[in-house]
Amino acid sequence: MSNDALANAARILGKARCAVAFTGAGISVESGIPPFRGPGGVWSKYDPEKFEKGYFKRHPQEVWPLLKTIFFDTLARARPNAAHLALAELETAGLLAGVITQNIDGLHQAAGSRTVHEYHGSTRRMQCLSCRAFFDSASIALDRLPPPCPACGGTLKPDFVFFSEPIPFEVHRAATELAQASDLCLIVGTGGEVMPAGRIPHLIKNSGGTVIEINLHETRYSYGFSDIFLQGKAGTLLPELTDKALEK
Ligand SMILES: [Zn+2]
Repeated sequence: MSNDALANAARILGKARCAVAFTGAGISVESGIPPFRGPGGVWSKYDPEKFEKGYFKRHPQEVWPLLKTIFFDTLARARPNAAHLALAELETAGLLAGVITQNIDGLHQAAGSRTVHEYHGSTRRMQCLSCRAFFDSASIALDRLPPPCPACGGTLKPDFVFFSEPIPFEVHRAATELAQASDLCLIVGTGGEVMPAGRIPHLIKNSGGTVIEINLHETRYSYGFSDIFLQGKAGTLLPELTDKALEK
């Protein structure tokens, strides 16, 4: 990748009317969160069928210890990295309208981003399958699994999208509206393999917007779709891009 590409991307970002970031697992890898897909990913070690909603409802006592190990033990230790912080800085500076993320780790908010659409939900909330009440995950002890609902004793489910579960309508609508209003999409750490989330950048591109991609490896976006492909670590490139766009 040339410095010209980075400088060009910074110029476009600085002039965008409404820029949105579309992020995925790759932005959180540098925070110690393993990706789901690919070699060494979560789904190479655990059977995805156990995270299908129907299976979970029938076998919460079997699935909850896995949920605790995969999601809650790791995420409790994870901190935002330089890439998350750069996006928060861009928003504060008025150069980024918001983040649409496929991640469920809450690290964008921890970094200070305010407008965050969590397309696949979040580990930070739980919902009771019986009374439908929501709870802050931090208030739920995980020493007894499955954790009982504090209100009715029912089974709590983490409020992220399980397999076979639809995207919640409200977040889909909010993310789509933001994407349609944007003229620049900053793709970070995702190849858009998961649908329908993977179509978000297309909403920007289809209305004449520009796509800047930051990924460690080539993706199906990289050639012919992304206008600029910056190949490398998000934790390095995104702060560089941010500094240049803010003319620091
Ligand atoms: Zn309940």
